[in-house]
Amino acid sequence: MEKADQSAQQGETSLARLRGVGPQMQRRLAQLGIHSIADLLFHLPLRYQDRSRCVPIAELRPEDEALVEGEVVGSEIVSGRRRSLRVYLEDQGARLLLRFFYFSANQAERLRPGLRLRCFGAVRLGPGYQLEMVHPEYRSLEGPAPLADNLTPIYPTTEGLQQGSWRNLTDQALGWLGQEPEAVTDWLPVEVHADPGLPGLREALMLLHRPPRDTAWEELLAGSHPARQRLVLEELLAHQLSLRRMRKQRQQFAAPPLAGSGALCQRLLAQLPFRLTGAQQRVLGEISGDLQRDQPMLRLLQGDVGSGKTVVAALAALQAVEAEHQVALMAPTELLAEQHLGRLRDWLVPLGVVPAWLTGRHKGQERARVLQAILAGEARVVVGTHALFQAELRFHNLGLVIVDEQHRFGVHQRLQLREKGAVDGRVPHQLIMTATPIPRTLAMSAYADLDLSVIDQRPPGRQPVTTVAVPDSRREEVIARVREACGRGRQAYWVCTLVEESEVLQCQAAEDTAQRLAESLPGLRVGRVHGRLKPAEREAVMAEFVANRLELLVATTVIEVGVDVPNASLMVIENPERLGLAQLHQLRGRVGRGEAASHCVLLFHPPLSEQAKTRLAILRDTDDGFVIAQKDLELRGPGEVLGTRQTGAMQFRIADLGRDQALLARAQRLADEILERFPERAGPLIERWVGRGGDYARV
Ligand code: ADP
Ligand code: MG
Repeated sequence: MEKADQSAQQGETSLARLRGVGPQMQRRLAQLGIHSIADLLFHLPLRYQDRSRCVPIAELRPEDEALVEGEVVGSEIVSGRRRSLRVYLEDQGARLLLRFFYFSANQAERLRPGLRLRCFGAVRLGPGYQLEMVHPEYRSLEGPAPLADNLTPIYPTTEGLQQGSWRNLTDQALGWLGQEPEAVTDWLPVEVHADPGLPGLREALMLLHRPPRDTAWEELLAGSHPARQRLVLEELLAHQLSLRRMRKQRQQFAAPPLAGSGALCQRLLAQLPFRLTGAQQRVLGEISGDLQRDQPMLRLLQGDVGSGKTVVAALAALQAVEAEHQVALMAPTELLAEQHLGRLRDWLVPLGVVPAWLTGRHKGQERARVLQAILAGEARVVVGTHALFQAELRFHNLGLVIVDEQHRFGVHQRLQLREKGAVDGRVPHQLIMTATPIPRTLAMSAYADLDLSVIDQRPPGRQPVTTVAVPDSRREEVIARVREACGRGRQAYWVCTLVEESEVLQCQAAEDTAQRLAESLPGLRVGRVHGRLKPAEREAVMAEFVANRLELLVATTVIEVGVDVPNASLMVIENPERLGLAQLHQLRGRVGRGEAASHCVLLFHPPLSEQAKTRLAILRDTDDGFVIAQKDLELRGPGEVLGTRQTGAMQFRIADLGRDQALLARAQRLADEILERFPERAGPLIERWVGRGGDYARV
């Protein structure tokens, strides 16, 4: 690659050397990150077509994409709703209909009975259950028509670039690779090729671009072909190396060592009405150790809903306070920030530490006073929302930032946090808490730049939430259950979901439902919270519910985050089929926080899709967030599970974390090996796969 890079500068591997590549084409290729002939070789096909053999028409199945040959036995122009040309093709007695909506008179004239044709297209089941191809590619078999030697690659592309151009470009690039085998360096240690046999880089590239016709192409598509595995492994390795490089770069920053006396922590522990679980103690030890170092901690604390992350955060905060540094605690919503504030007040005020509170609602003089207290260092612990911390806030000596995440923590946010970066050359320690567990293999690959702590144990005495799925025709029964639970002094949630994105409609639905439930449940005090209430109003309703002055809370999914009311033992979720597994699990985590046996009713609207059935069944069968996350990964794929789809980062070119999970551990081992034996190869590998301008490489 070094050689290739140098020569790229000298123009030897410049794309301009290729036939058919002018400035406009170069710009288009550049948009796809292709700047050299070598880059072109790493632009791999998405899939393949088999134009190397003809399929007898009798063997065609709907959804096939196939090459067929036959004789035209009839043709007609049909003028219905849409004028079309229908051509009947016959091969050994079996028939296929070819349909054209756009055709010239000349074309219709030529496609006459007796003509032999070869067609390529997608087969589907047309009206009358007849197999058809709409607008197939076709050629007459009057002259010689050799079949393709290779499977035909289909490349990921961009506007203005046809598959024909890609084949032409890659043909030339492969020719160049053939002449200069040294041009693309194989950076993987040779042992990789031996066990279990993976081809060398050059061989793999050749095969993937032009698979010989006898290649098992199902294997290619499924990703299990050794040539593909070879390259996927390399890409996973490159990402791993890139994340590790980010970690290393972070470690070059200095952080304030926060070695507290332990006095405040001891007092908090003594005052708690419970003992920490073994898992809480373990993660606390990990965090505490990190905080004492003079390198910034960046640790992801994973723990299922209700696993007790807040107290761990409070103890970490106290360690920073003992070491005379400030702590910032951020939450994604005001409701959740408030709840943290309430907890921290209960715990810390008796120790003489008064948490400061900063929200968008603080205005004018009051706001100025809080900001001043933070700047002067008088406010030791500051609680607020994420939004606030991006604003004007300045600290006296910030030692630790704790982030409570509603959703999974994306790469993008990580980079943003890091960019908040150094003050006087020092970076605060960071603890990120997430309630949505990530399967371990995935976490190791996606978060290789972070340290991970996992609370994998619930506080004792909790009973799992019993979950049932009930069709909405049995709504009355469900209402009776609410009446019964509340009659016993318990509280209940009723969650409304709506498929529309519109928050207005969603809030309206919650209002209507609250109204109707209040009518059906006379004597029960019913409150409602949704995004359209003013924050003060919402807070007031929540406070009423927390104080047990409301028995039933009707809510939109805003209550997903952190609300903690141990007396609530029943949750009804309307139309759960509209939500993802992770979100449902989060919602359900609002109950089962006390000692009472709790229930969750999934009040669905039939008919359910297969996917929805599977999701509801999983929820019914398990209460374990890690199991649910693993299922979610299988059902929806890692993009959804990691929540990075929105952020656009963490995109692989050919690897698929779901499909290629089996290679993850190997990529990690390989990363160790490269760093140990060939550290100079890390740079070129990252550059090849993760790119120059990519977020990953930039820290
Ligand atoms: P989450 O991890 O979802 O943020 P919380 O921190 O809100 O969980 O904890 C859930 C509830 O469990 C809280 O009421 C908290 O005080 C309580 N809790 C935390 N740790 C323990 C423990 N070790 N034993 C008993 N209760 C605990
Ligand atoms: Mg929490």
